[in-house]
Amino acid sequence: MKIRRKFNVGLIKKTLCYSTNEIAELFSIHKRTVQTLYKEGLMKIDDRKPFLVKGADLVAFIKTRQKQHKKKCEQTEMYCCKCHLPRKPLSGTVELIFINKRQIQLQAFCSICKTKIFKFIKPAKLEEYKKIFMVNKRQY
Ligand SMILES: [Zn+2]
Repeated sequence: MKIRRKFNVGLIKKTLCYSTNEIAELFSIHKRTVQTLYKEGLMKIDDRKPFLVKGADLVAFIKTRQKQHKKKCEQTEMYCCKCHLPRKPLSGTVELIFINKRQIQLQAFCSICKTKIFKFIKPAKLEEYKKIFMVNKRQY
């Protein structure tokens, strides 16, 4: 689920309530995507339909999300798109893929949700990463 990073939360009136449709319009996303946001923790006033969300809760939710996106990965971590957080690779193992002379891609699986995670590094840094991860070269 993508919310444009620079979404202006100033557009949301904290004192108003927003319906699923209005939220979808606000973010230019599909209604069904808003349902996903509920599952991810966006608070509704109650479970009666149509669902309503307090503007203040909506602002808090977006701000937390934007902050999470900004959260930089430690050297030992890779960003997981599913968890929306930097994660450690499963069993510390990464696969090495040479993209070109200036870039190496490390591939691994998220230690929490098992989704594929990536990180791009400079070849000069490879030795450093070899100390942190079990680096396997991909066999073709
Ligand atoms: Zn994950």
